[in-house]
Amino acid sequence: MCEETKFSVLCSLFTWIQRSRTSAKKRSKFRIFLDTFCINGHQFSAIRLILPNLDRERGSYGLKESVLATCLIDALGMSRESEDALRLINWRKGGAKTGANAGNFAMVAAEVLQRRQGMTSGGLTIKELNDLLDCLASSENRTEKTSVLSTLIKKTNAQEMKWIVMIILKDLKLGISEKSIFHEFHPDAEDLFNVTCDLKLVCEKLKDRSQRHKRQDIEVGKAVRPQLAMRVADATAAWKKLHGKEVVVECKFDGDRIQIHKNGEEIHFFSRNFLDHPEYKYAMSNIVAQNLLVDRCILDGEMLVWDISLNRFAEFGSNQEIAKAAKEGLDSDRQVLSYVAFDILYVGDTSVIHQTLKERHELLQKVVKPLKGRFEILVPSGGLNTHRPSGEPCWSLIAYDVDDVERFFKKTVENRDEGIVLKDLGSKWEPSDRSGKWLKLKPEYVHAGSDLDVLIIGGYYGSGRRGGEVAQFLVGLADHSGPDTYPRRFISFCRVGTGLSDDELDAVVTKLKPYFRKNEYPKKAPPSFYQVTNNSKERPDIWIDSPEKSIILSITSDIRTIRSEVFAAPYSLRFPRIDCVRYDKPWHECLDVQSFMELVHSSNGT
Ligand code: ATP
Repeated sequence: MCEETKFSVLCSLFTWIQRSRTSAKKRSKFRIFLDTFCINGHQFSAIRLILPNLDRERGSYGLKESVLATCLIDALGMSRESEDALRLINWRKGGAKTGANAGNFAMVAAEVLQRRQGMTSGGLTIKELNDLLDCLASSENRTEKTSVLSTLIKKTNAQEMKWIVMIILKDLKLGISEKSIFHEFHPDAEDLFNVTCDLKLVCEKLKDRSQRHKRQDIEVGKAVRPQLAMRVADATAAWKKLHGKEVVVECKFDGDRIQIHKNGEEIHFFSRNFLDHPEYKYAMSNIVAQNLLVDRCILDGEMLVWDISLNRFAEFGSNQEIAKAAKEGLDSDRQVLSYVAFDILYVGDTSVIHQTLKERHELLQKVVKPLKGRFEILVPSGGLNTHRPSGEPCWSLIAYDVDDVERFFKKTVENRDEGIVLKDLGSKWEPSDRSGKWLKLKPEYVHAGSDLDVLIIGGYYGSGRRGGEVAQFLVGLADHSGPDTYPRRFISFCRVGTGLSDDELDAVVTKLKPYFRKNEYPKKAPPSFYQVTNNSKERPDIWIDSPEKSIILSITSDIRTIRSEVFAAPYSLRFPRIDCVRYDKPWHECLDVQSFMELVHSSNGT
């Protein structure tokens, strides 16, 4: 039986799959495992360990790399100051000691574990591992988590523990797609998972590979994998792709994709990774119950924050805070959660995903009684469009030619929205589909209006391919103390990593390396000429220890600036990207905060 199989067998499978070069070979190894070890049911106990990111049966472990590092250090009884402990804490860092493993937490952990655990397997079965992982997920504090980890360490060897670390981090890096795993398991597994998001159910219903399963429709109460949008470069490309179709263009809202499932009194808010969000339940259930006029229904849409005083949606980032405040009874009179339904998937006792979008829009209008700023519908006539603040473009419209799309896109850019989504009004809603029935067009890398030439003041180690090397920079703006003097202080402004080729990035890193000042655990105060906040998200792994030796980067970004709490400058950039390296510009010609603020205000970027 699969459950009684030793976890070491699964580890050998993982290693084989990882080492096999071709997809066919990887799949055939998995097939052999299924045929040999999973013949008498209970496949779920193994499959949930192979696809840990799809397993919703146990809650979250609450263990990202940094917390996992401290728990492992304690579980192994190491001093936090020891070399190996620091290696785990600074897992991203390169250098001779962690060598090629830098940036890969599980490999660094394996290195450390190898010195303490030995090679002999502890004989842990798949069932025992699942039971211990259940304990790990349900334990409430670090002490309890550490104790479960210490039991696991006692029952495994270093190789097995490395795979357990990867299971906890929910990424096995096997180089085989979820699609292939599903397909080897059962030809109908992917389809069934897409409409139920329930791995256990898939394993239980599809035990027999030779028995085909009737295509299942969606159900109220079970999250569905959302339909997705394909990215297009510009309005012309979008129009060409939807040639001959009846097209609606909608604003791309910047919130949380949420499915609302209403079944009588029971209301669920499922996010994209199929989690039910209790914080939304608390803040929004009453509104949904009162304004959703049918007993059973599934809505698809975006959860946002409505700013009552500004009469518009607030910028992304505040959803969770508002929801948490509402839960604690601290309702804000300025900002409230607001749901925009842009689709409907189920009404009464019928799935409506096979109807056209146009028909679904009509249904939306029938079943939702919109409540301004709290519960809205997005359809090309009526709904949200009727009360968009004056002077702003409507939120959705039917496009008759490419110019309509272009105009709508321009307006959303001016309005600093995230972009637009184009949809074929004749299309059905398809779970997990990104084949082009929905297209997205985003103004991400529109130039910020003027060159933003900023100074590199720190660096962050990368992970994966760039593990152990600086892969992102913390850049700063100059704070001029007076005219005709060189700046003496630089204020942290944003973190930027994309835009340069590997060679260009290597060249910058090599030039700056002599001036790196490592900022390893425990993180030290920055050099006195940098002004930063206390926010830990901002703390780089290295500082450049003299600004005069540093390099200026020209960066571009989404045209929207955002108020910054992470960085010391009052505003930061969304989606910053390095345009080029300005070796020709001396360090002191870095953009200063005052000029940047003028730029923000002149582009109405508040
Ligand atoms: P992105 O980072 O661009 O949002 P993504 O991979 O998260 O990409 P996509 O499927 O590419 O998601 O884009 C669709 C997403 O856009 C949806 O998941 C949803 O959260 C959001 N969205 C906002 N407004 C709309 C809209 N009017 N129609 C559909 N999706 C919308």
